Amino acid sequence: MHQKQYDYLIVGAGLYGAVFAKQAVDKGKSVLVIDKRSHIAGNVYTERIADINVHKYGAHIFHTNNEVVWKFVNRFACFNRFTNSPLANYKGEIFSLPFNMYTFNKMWGVTTPQEAFEKIEQQKKAANVHSPFNLEEQAISLVGTDIYEKLIKGYTEKQWGRDCKDLPSFIIKRLPVRFTYDNNYFNALYQGVPIGGYTEMVNKMLDGIEVNLNVDYLEDRDLWNNIAQTVVYTGPIDAFYKYCFGALQYRSVRFETELLDIPNYQGNAAVNYTDSETPWTRIIEHKWFEFGKNEKGEDIPRTVISRELSSEWKLGDEPYYPVNDDFNNSLYFKYKELSDKERNIIFGGRLAEYKYYDMDAVIASALEKSNSVIKTVQIC
Ligand code: FAD
Repeated sequence: MHQKQYDYLIVGAGLYGAVFAKQAVDKGKSVLVIDKRSHIAGNVYTERIADINVHKYGAHIFHTNNEVVWKFVNRFACFNRFTNSPLANYKGEIFSLPFNMYTFNKMWGVTTPQEAFEKIEQQKKAANVHSPFNLEEQAISLVGTDIYEKLIKGYTEKQWGRDCKDLPSFIIKRLPVRFTYDNNYFNALYQGVPIGGYTEMVNKMLDGIEVNLNVDYLEDRDLWNNIAQTVVYTGPIDAFYKYCFGALQYRSVRFETELLDIPNYQGNAAVNYTDSETPWTRIIEHKWFEFGKNEKGEDIPRTVISRELSSEWKLGDEPYYPVNDDFNNSLYFKYKELSDKERNIIFGGRLAEYKYYDMDAVIASALEKSNSVIKTVQIC
């Protein structure tokens, strides 16, 4: 076999691609990264607007229990102490999330865990649901009617574009309920947001690595396959196979982003709108991921907000959340069978594996894969 120009062609400069590329280069391999977008960092991309790092593809909070991943990311960024404490706005009333003693106090005026527990149990009993058939019954059987009506129903219906009675119960197997005064959404050992934004972090990972942007691998795959021994493909698996079995489905999100000439819009990074009338599911105020300060530690005078509107996905839209129901999972499995037969092509990341991955999980997966397939070059 003739020697090719690169050991690895990485398709996609998102987290999976960037981590794999860094590992390959550290092991002495030659690497080219391409991405069809005009920027690196994939869906964790942050764009600087009025001194604020705006999370362009949705709010991203890093959280992990994985020591290896935490050490790895800290090579490329310093993380701040941001703790995810979202709020719910139900017709102007503010509740703490996830459901905890602050939520129950606001909902019922109870102050002790025992009172809150009894209130939930009473409501579960009154609802008398034994084998929940749909999402509404499932939610009521877990947390009772008040929390369901005010904090779950409207939000979930907007998110899925369907009535909770028409959604399957398995979507919410469990609901996090805490009988402590604790608004921290994640139970992770490590949590934060990279100071300076995710783009800067990925930029450091790709430091010294050749990156070509605005290049779609699928438009000329023969050319790209010819220049590298191995391709790491992080794009959609169904697109790779020209949708031969049909398109995998996603839920999409539309962001309406605005720069406002005021310093503080909602006083919190994330506020969920849990009623049915408000069209958006939540509003993100990006500056609060970094405590409203710029890089010099000064207060930022303006603010950027993004309203998130959940939408039905159609081919050509940005894919966000995979719909991992039986139909789509078996469709994915057919594509996976094809991909398992490929030689010299590695499929990785959220789109190629049709899987919702948190950032730490996608990094762990890229580290594991790169460690198992890349042999270190011995330099004598
Ligand atoms: P991507 O970031 O999508 O990267 C794939 C790249 O491949 C893209 O840049 C794309 O342009 C490129 N590409 C695709 N096809 C081609 C092609 N044909 N040619 C060239 N390039 C191509 N995780 C958390 O841990 N915390 C959070 O708070 C969090 N919030 C999230 C919010 C939302 C709305 C969503 C959808 C996800 C969230 N995640 C969060 C998950 C996180 O976004 C993913 O873990 C991460 O982005 C996955 O990285 P990836 O490299 O697999 O995919």
